[in-house]
Amino acid sequence: MLGKTRNSNIIIVTAPSGCGKTTLINMLLKKHTDIEFSISTTTRQPRGNEQHGVNYYFTSIDEFKNMISQDEFVEWAKVHGNYYGTQYSEIKRILDKGNKCLLDVDVQGGLNLMKIFPGCKSIFIEPPSVDELERRLRDRKTDSEDTIRLRMQDSIDELMFKDNYRYRVLNDKLENAFIEIERIIYDE
Ligand code: ADP
Ligand code: 5GP
Repeated sequence: MLGKTRNSNIIIVTAPSGCGKTTLINMLLKKHTDIEFSISTTTRQPRGNEQHGVNYYFTSIDEFKNMISQDEFVEWAKVHGNYYGTQYSEIKRILDKGNKCLLDVDVQGGLNLMKIFPGCKSIFIEPPSVDELERRLRDRKTDSEDTIRLRMQDSIDELMFKDNYRYRVLNDKLENAFIEIERIIYDE
């Protein structure tokens, strides 16, 4: 459906919640206009300043299930109690322009996409420690206590899959992590 894709233009980024992935992705998108964000579809509620069609396509559970039955997703998964999915049309929209397609997905999505697009660049962002991860999640002040607990448990599970990724980047000092990710993306 996506035809012949140049898989090195597909960049998969996964990180435990609160690790700094959104911060790093926003820095990349601001600096590099040839990198485009694949906007996922989700049934979760918008958080903070998130906007429909920018951060996510926010939708209902019924509509999401309808999209699954219409085979609209390259991959989809239930993450932290909500549905998230990547539409074929989204990846096609970006690759057709010759841009690099950056996908922010969980480990289930990452593993599926690696199979579909061999040769893609898969990056796992690691926190300096689990304690620091929890501190960042709390400092973000966007999640309830229940959500933080659920996300922390899921994060610990996700960390077990980091070795399945082609690249691992430690997000201790933000600037260093950013430079390392840039190098991975632009190293042919
Ligand atoms: P994610 O998208 O992975 O859930 P965010 O990008 O929302 O994470 O970051 C979570 C919090 O951690 C934010 O408040 C962000 O400003 C902060 N943060 C991100 N990277 C670092 C870093 N290297 N050092 C300290 N704080 C960071
Ligand atoms: P958040 O709710 O913090 O935006 O995202 C929660 C998790 O869902 C993150 O791990 C994020 O990478 C993942 N996610 C976002 N979009 C998708 C998607 O389209 N597919 C999959 N599998 N995971 C996604």
